[in-house]
Amino acid sequence: QLERKLAALEGTEACIAFASGMAAIWALFSRLLTSGDHIVMSDVTYAAASELANDTLPDLGIEVTRTDTSDLDGLRKALRPNTRLLYLETPANPLLRLTDIGAAAKVAHEVGVPVAVDSTFATPIALRPVEHGADYVIHSLTKYICGHGDALGGAICGSQADLDRL
Ligand SMILES: *Cc1c(COP(=O)(O)O)cnc(C)c1O
Repeated sequence: QLERKLAALEGTEACIAFASGMAAIWALFSRLLTSGDHIVMSDVTYAAASELANDTLPDLGIEVTRTDTSDLDGLRKALRPNTRLLYLETPANPLLRLTDIGAAAKVAHEVGVPVAVDSTFATPIALRPVEHGADYVIHSLTKYICGHGDALGGAICGSQADLDRL
């Protein structure tokens, strides 16, 4: 029921719920990336996502480039032939910096790179990233979607085909 409601809120075909937001992010990274792959990621993200990028992924042989994703020229330069994912967080926690999802997704899709957006801070009330070209939408349900600070959860929303890949 939760997955169906979240998919309806985000306007996606499907959703997978997880035990926490970090579990959702880790599921995405560990299923889409393998040794020798490269990820481009916002240089400002939730602290535990930054720990994954700075420590865990390099330990697994996954290359990480962190860049200001609101700077499209910098973003274009960061993409490589082995880039498998562009990971955005907008508004970014904690700076609330915004990335133009549509413009960033256009740059990534031109070179065949899928785009994930951590939309925890916006919630589907303010923003539906797939309407702007995102392929995966991540939520920590622990935050605003829970609303009362009394439950942990996470989610990935997207197309059935993309979620079947996870
Ligand atoms: C809190 C948070 C997470 C992690 O969520 P948990 O449910 O605490 O694991 C991920 N992304 C953002 C933007 C967050 O604020």
